[in-house]
Amino acid sequence: MDELSSIVASSDRVHALGTRHSFSDVADTAGVLVDLGGLPVKLDIDASTGTAAVNAAATYGKVAPALDLAGFALHNEGSLPHISVAGATATGTHGSGSTLGSLSTVVRALEVLGPDGSVRTFNSDSGRFPGAVMHLGLLGVVTRVTLELEPSYRMRQDAYGPMPWNTYLDKLEEIHAAGYSVSAFTSFGETVHEILVKSRIPDGAHDIEIVNDLLGAPRLSGDPGGTSVTARDGSVGPWWDRLPHFPIASTPSVGSELQSEHFVPLRHAGSALEAVRAHARRLLPLLHVSELRTMAGDDLWLSSTQGEDVLCIAFTWKKVPEAVAELLVDIERSLTPFSARPHWGKLTSLDRDSISDLYPRLPEFRRLVTELDPDRKFASPFSERLLGI
Ligand SMILES: Cc1cc2nc3c(=O)[nH]c(=O)nc-3n(C[C@H](O)[C@H](O)[C@H](O)COP(=O)(O)OP(=O)(O)OC[C@H]3O[C@@H](n4cnc5c(N)ncnc54)[C@H](O)[C@@H]3O)c2cc1C
Repeated sequence: MDELSSIVASSDRVHALGTRHSFSDVADTAGVLVDLGGLPVKLDIDASTGTAAVNAAATYGKVAPALDLAGFALHNEGSLPHISVAGATATGTHGSGSTLGSLSTVVRALEVLGPDGSVRTFNSDSGRFPGAVMHLGLLGVVTRVTLELEPSYRMRQDAYGPMPWNTYLDKLEEIHAAGYSVSAFTSFGETVHEILVKSRIPDGAHDIEIVNDLLGAPRLSGDPGGTSVTARDGSVGPWWDRLPHFPIASTPSVGSELQSEHFVPLRHAGSALEAVRAHARRLLPLLHVSELRTMAGDDLWLSSTQGEDVLCIAFTWKKVPEAVAELLVDIERSLTPFSARPHWGKLTSLDRDSISDLYPRLPEFRRLVTELDPDRKFASPFSERLLGI
């Protein structure tokens, strides 16, 4: 901590790095990049407040099983447990679930080294906390994050498909309410080829009654999981081994893909999907897969779901950066009428003016940065280009 503090205090420009799983340059800096992975791991569970304080660099893959052992759980996880708690919550990383907010929405406190290298604490009872939680590394170097817990629970995953595109479009909200967390996978052709329903087992119950088709899409016998994907054969298991798509022991991405993702208000979901589908012929050769998820709105200032429930339209692209960048411009143009916000950790072609129009609370965030980091020590090429910070 002393070493970290003196690096921060003595650098003109500095930025913290998580597990470097972002596809955008949000974690880059023109100055010093600090990696907190060497700080000793410390997990402090406070059962009386139902919270746990964890190291910034700790990954969900490490933290989640330890919480479970102590009888606690998180409300959700992203598809990948390999990411750090600080990096994920700084960018609004999310899973799926019509009633669930992003991973940032369960942050209850942050410990942050400010520009002079001393520690500041942000608590959820402060008025500026909703501005500080999704900070993109611009408020300082986070050393500890306190997360809200709930009692541990068990889950199962069942996969259904294929489903005709029009059925998915007509029944989108019903489909995404069919489980605790629901993901639909498609290539924007005639079908949604797989719908993954993650169901929470009610307290005291052994299992849930399962349906053998989802609006006509048959239940797939499933992958027992364990190596490349978490079990999706209906077997009941711990929350941390069902919420992510990938098990911690897997290596799902080694830099051979690109990702972009947009969040559109749920009320525009159908029209936004049709606007994307108009590009289907150009999409197909570049696409590994597209994942459609839902998420509850929140009030975090820089949140891509601030103010409204959303549909998340995510693309995993083949690694052909120029062709993807060209298509992304057209996709983002088609999504403009639906006020689509990009994921901070993924690719976008939007500029500062478009971002300003999409984030009504950005001026307040800029004021917060000015107050906490007047010399812009934590600013980055990304923040200058997209946020004017
Ligand atoms: C295969 C794959 C699957 C993915 N799946 C999902 C998904 O399901 N849902 C989703 O929403 N996203 C997903 N993502 C994107 C990813 O979760 C986010 O980009 C996330 O921010 C990455 O976390 P990280 O720990 O790697 O942080 P980094 O990418 O290293 O950094 C992200 C940001 O956090 C800041 N930061 C990190 N640590 C600190 C700290 N200690 N103090 C201050 N700032 C800090 C950085 O400065 C930067 O601004 C996926 C990415 C990959 C590669």
